[in-house]
Amino acid sequence: MLAPTPPLREAHAHIPAHGRSLTTLNLADCTSIAECIDRIRAESARLDAIDPSHTRWLLAGGIRVEAWIDRAWPTRPQIDAACPSRPAMLMCFDYHALLANTLAFRAAKIADNAPNPDGGVIVRDNHNNPTGLLLESACRLVRESVPEPTPAEQRDITIAALRDFASHGFIEVHDLLTPSWLGPILATMHDDGTLAQLNIRRICLYPLVPDLAHQHAASKSWSRSNVVELTGGKVFVDGTLNSRTAWMLEPFANPLPDHPCGTPLMNEREIADAISTCRAHNVGFAAHAIGDAAVRAVLNAAQSLPRTPADITTLSRAIRIEHAELVHPRDVQRFADLGVIASLQPCHLLYDIEVLERELASRLERVLPIRDFIKSGLIPGKTILFGSDAPIVRPNPQDSILAAVHRRRTTDSPAGSPTQNPIAPAQAIDEPTALRCFI
Ligand SMILES: [Zn+2]
Repeated sequence: MLAPTPPLREAHAHIPAHGRSLTTLNLADCTSIAECIDRIRAESARLDAIDPSHTRWLLAGGIRVEAWIDRAWPTRPQIDAACPSRPAMLMCFDYHALLANTLAFRAAKIADNAPNPDGGVIVRDNHNNPTGLLLESACRLVRESVPEPTPAEQRDITIAALRDFASHGFIEVHDLLTPSWLGPILATMHDDGTLAQLNIRRICLYPLVPDLAHQHAASKSWSRSNVVELTGGKVFVDGTLNSRTAWMLEPFANPLPDHPCGTPLMNEREIADAISTCRAHNVGFAAHAIGDAAVRAVLNAAQSLPRTPADITTLSRAIRIEHAELVHPRDVQRFADLGVIASLQPCHLLYDIEVLERELASRLERVLPIRDFIKSGLIPGKTILFGSDAPIVRPNPQDSILAAVHRRRTTDSPAGSPTQNPIAPAQAIDEPTALRCFI
């Protein structure tokens, strides 16, 4: 075990979603459809007692059907029966799939014959009826219909999240999908001393690029120098490994129909345009890119634009690649050469071992090439940053440190029983180096 840790930085988290996950029904330890339905029924009854007007939605998260006995989602009729009186939204742990009941479909105005949105799937049964399951961008249809938290709820979930980060030793947190209400709440919490009380000293905010102009203008009133700052714009270049929507140079072993190499969400031109938009606002840029094709597209876009030394050395001007779970050997050196930050979450390895071995067995050596990144000139804590992506997984820094050192699940790991074979063992680093990526 490590010695007491110095103050740490959580470089990739979702403060509102993490706070919500700590304050709403968590199904992370659920093991079957039957148990899921039972817990939804109980939550529905609890809400009926405290909210008889049925204005609140039933929200649940943390679902990992891969780990269930049934390895399948419940159906919409099952959720309708368990939660008949209010919209219900059950979120997959990775936030790239969700299950909604009929009232939630209605609130989101999704007709039974609605076409799939761009980059998303409304899953259907043999009779062509929606099963309730929505994938990728289709999730947004329902997610955006959930009522915004009230100001009191916003404050409660923000405090719940920050208290949890602080309990793990974090004094700095980066939020990688910032809604417009978060900056103002944090400014209030700075001014009334709540942030200091929680021992949170710096929060860097990254709204989506389409939201940037609006939030940039508003940040004049809520930005607090070196404490609460609009640091950059965020984009999604691909999906996730678990849903096989990460954008790969070579096909998955068991790909989704019509998507052998996953689902690119942006092309190089669009990525370059987004970088330019961030630059025009004098802020940095963060791209969600999990597959090796997505990572390459961001590097190509970065290379296509002229940059000054200041663009490369200051976080508030930097280009960051978030996740970079698979990187082609030819692209590793390009991070250092282009001054691109690798923002990594080694803890995800602990959860992804099965899907990696099943889908990418022929190129596991490309997974999280941390040692090669360091050899190529990236600096732990400066240009390699570690985070957790909470609430996707818990924000315990030990998980990432142990994953970076052992490259497999040990007896101290969350997410299942210990595994034997390390993933890309040549990329293992030592504990002090892994810790530095948090400092
Ligand atoms: Zn994230």
